[in-house]
Amino acid sequence: MENIFNKRIDELEDYFLSINEKKFKASQIYDWLYKKRVYDFSKMTNLKKELILKLENDFSNELITIVKKQSDKDTAKYLFKLEDDNFVESVLMYHNYGISVCVSSQVGCNMGCKFCESGRLKKVRDLQTYEMVEQILLIEEDIKQRISSVVIMGIGEPFDNYDNVMNFIKIINHDKGIAIGARHITVSTCGIIPKIKQLMNEPLQINLAISLHAPDNELRSKLMKINKVYNIEQLIATLKEYIQKTNRRVTIEYVTLKGVNDSHSHALKLAKLLKGMNAYVNLIPYNETNNIGFKKSDKQTILEFYDILKKHNINVTIRREFGSKIDAACGQLRSKEVDA
Ligand code: SF4
Repeated sequence: MENIFNKRIDELEDYFLSINEKKFKASQIYDWLYKKRVYDFSKMTNLKKELILKLENDFSNELITIVKKQSDKDTAKYLFKLEDDNFVESVLMYHNYGISVCVSSQVGCNMGCKFCESGRLKKVRDLQTYEMVEQILLIEEDIKQRISSVVIMGIGEPFDNYDNVMNFIKIINHDKGIAIGARHITVSTCGIIPKIKQLMNEPLQINLAISLHAPDNELRSKLMKINKVYNIEQLIATLKEYIQKTNRRVTIEYVTLKGVNDSHSHALKLAKLLKGMNAYVNLIPYNETNNIGFKKSDKQTILEFYDILKKHNINVTIRREFGSKIDAACGQLRSKEVDA
């Protein structure tokens, strides 16, 4: 039975038309689910009894469950158990401009980036749309506050689960759904070029972030398997096309790894690569884990890297460190659960 949180509003409208009901019923259902947060069809008091029975017959409203939460003052990490006993994580972050949540899109990940805890555990399956929607609903219910921005950068490669991720975005973005503005939604990819091209043609004003992490093919191929399929030149050309077509800036994610990708010459190469592009670089201090050998760059090294980019007119920020004390690096909580 399909989960009701899988359904975009236009799909629900089609469903109601197919059972000879009025299309506006879809808006009523969305109002109960996403505004009133009532998930039980029998409590939707403006629906007829027969329709409630039909909905109960056609859709499930099962929720994934929060099995663990670790928090410190500005971060909370949630471990969710799925219906088939798999686990995924989300990370909640409090900023001065609002609350963001980083959601997972797959159970594990096949992209095998060397520095990534999620990639250490192979992909088991894609998440369905409802499993992403419910990460948001359950966190909002837990903190009794609305989330202002969503980043799809947790466990998994979102573009390896493109259709479900797009449905998820459409549901959380819809003003009758969770109503998170498109400009507050970011999808992050390791660089699957055909899907970046597909995204260019979506009528969605969301943000695109690219996990680059190295300024040349030799190093990037060592760190990220995907670079052997789509290399840096192809990726940068596609991003330029994306920027031209959408008129939107792209974010370049760059995790600084001590002695690996954080030298002055790496910074210079990166500046050259991004010259003239409407992009901004997000330097991310690495979250060290016990299972992977990489080390975090020194503060001074990161500052020098930042200065070089600035000097070459590249927009750059250093990401505030979140949750290293609570295993907030992508995949760390889940990998503890799976290893246990
Ligand atoms: S960094 Fe992202 S794409 Fe790479 S292995 Fe980790 S989750 Fe997958």
